[in-house]
Amino acid sequence: MERSDFQYAQEKLAQLKADYQVDVVADWGESDGKWTPGAWTKAELDKLYKAINLMVDAMGGKEKFIEHLGGVTVRKADIGTHGGEALAHRVSLSIKGSFSSWTVVHEFAHAWDANYNWRLSRLLEKYTGGFTSPFLAGILKVAGLSDTERFRPGKKPGRYGRKPGCNRAGYFYGDRPSGSNWSFNRVEDFAESVAMYIGWGKNNDLSEHAQKRIVRYQLKNGEKDPFNIVDNWMEYARRFYPDNGDYTKTKRWRFVDDLVTGKIELPQARGRHLARP
Ligand SMILES: [Zn+2]
Repeated sequence: MERSDFQYAQEKLAQLKADYQVDVVADWGESDGKWTPGAWTKAELDKLYKAINLMVDAMGGKEKFIEHLGGVTVRKADIGTHGGEALAHRVSLSIKGSFSSWTVVHEFAHAWDANYNWRLSRLLEKYTGGFTSPFLAGILKVAGLSDTERFRPGKKPGRYGRKPGCNRAGYFYGDRPSGSNWSFNRVEDFAESVAMYIGWGKNNDLSEHAQKRIVRYQLKNGEKDPFNIVDNWMEYARRFYPDNGDYTKTKRWRFVDDLVTGKIELPQARGRHLARP
């Protein structure tokens, strides 16, 4: 943060707090006449604000957002190789480099799920016809039916572990998600489904990414997708490509829509986060 942006940043922080109960931990400031810029930039603060607004709009207003998230503290932290991390009432974004709007929504979706004791991702798993079975996943591996290397994920076409159950968690994902890999599980599925729902078919900061997630299944085997991954896309199309390429036809889109429109009854939340003094 530049010293000249101090006032602007303070106002943005106050607005995030007042409107959405989101606290950004400011790592910038002045003491003894010396300015500490911290890791945040003004552009990132704006990006965060815009991404939160996309969630607020999708949820039907700030009261709903506050009810769902129950207050969130956002900080930049050294979290290793991850872009972000989240628990209930808490989102961390990597101090190394910047973050995308997609990452913000993904992490806030985790915080939402966490505020309901990770029950929302369980509801998604059920709704989409999926289940988690490390036992069954183990059988697939031993039988050589897994699209991984023998006992680990691979980094070449047809070996990323995209088939149901062929991931670390033994997560069998049911109806078509926008993607899957070794790290996929119901919790990641929920966060990605929320981001896809918010971006899909719109013209916002998530829309291009959402579109790219789907169009790659029309590529030929061996072609490079918009994320620079080469894979056997034709083999995966039937598991991921929605009817007529329309993501709103998937159970995941329907699930998030039902969730934000109140058609699915929410489980008991953990309760409101007490603001720091
Ligand atoms: Zn995640």
